[in-house]
Amino acid sequence: SLQGKTAVITGSNSGIGLGVARELARAGADVVINSFTDRDEDHQLAADIAKEFGVTARYIKADLSKGAEARALIEQAGKCDILVNNAGIQHVSPIEDFPVEKWDAIIAIMLTSAFHTTAVALPMMRKAGWGRVVNIASAHGLTASPYKSAYVSAKHGVVGLTKVTALETAKEDITVNAICPGYVKTPLVEAQIPDTAKEYNMTEEEVIEKVILARQPSKEFATVEQIGGTAVFLCSDAAAQITGTTISVDGGWTAL
Ligand code: NAD
Repeated sequence: SLQGKTAVITGSNSGIGLGVARELARAGADVVINSFTDRDEDHQLAADIAKEFGVTARYIKADLSKGAEARALIEQAGKCDILVNNAGIQHVSPIEDFPVEKWDAIIAIMLTSAFHTTAVALPMMRKAGWGRVVNIASAHGLTASPYKSAYVSAKHGVVGLTKVTALETAKEDITVNAICPGYVKTPLVEAQIPDTAKEYNMTEEEVIEKVILARQPSKEFATVEQIGGTAVFLCSDAAAQITGTTISVDGGWTAL
């Protein structure tokens, strides 16, 4: 059980981050959820998790495109035994047309923020004598697709940062790993299905199989619960010697 541990999950008012927060809470951890908004429904998500799983849950606003806010998130949490770097965005465009501000935002939110949160969390983990860093990378941390230059670069960077952080903590009871999901059915992905179906004149089922899951041999989405369960495993005693590596949850994508 993760009772008594505090987990901070970045970008967790939706999708994978929320799924990971819920599975860590189910395993007994207190959780801090985060995004860049500060709406009633954000705080309500934390209240719902606290009620459902009987843990302490807080929502802390931080815009992770800004280094100072990423650092302040961990400082405000006060304690961070489990750090899950998950926040992310996407932009698709050929390199020569790729908007510079989109490149900068993607690298800042997905790669640089993980450097900042890790820098503040590691001393807290050392003080506690135990820690787990779980970086949510992607199949695109291991392989590439055209038109996703910033995303693929940031995710490969996250895998690199994972390895370095693991080496710097190797002799301590701290592990650092990256989960590499293939396609996961999150609100973000689901929203694209009806429009793509119209565009290609296909049924939604055909879009899922032939367009979205073209590279995922299982022809099934991974679920946020499966990503959350993988994070819980990485926090377990069975995973204490797993560090500096990646775990793919991608229905065979990276085996192709
Ligand atoms: P999502 O849009 O549902 O979640 C993204 C989260 O990041 C949201 O909570 C959002 O509020 C937050 N976020 C965005 N910009 C932020 C900022 N500036 N500051 C703070 N928070 C911010 O998408 P998702 O699919 O759940 O993606 C979560 C992570 O999983 C991302 O890193 C993504 O790259 C990765 N991933 C997703 C898939 C997939 O198929 N859905 C596959 C592989 C990897």
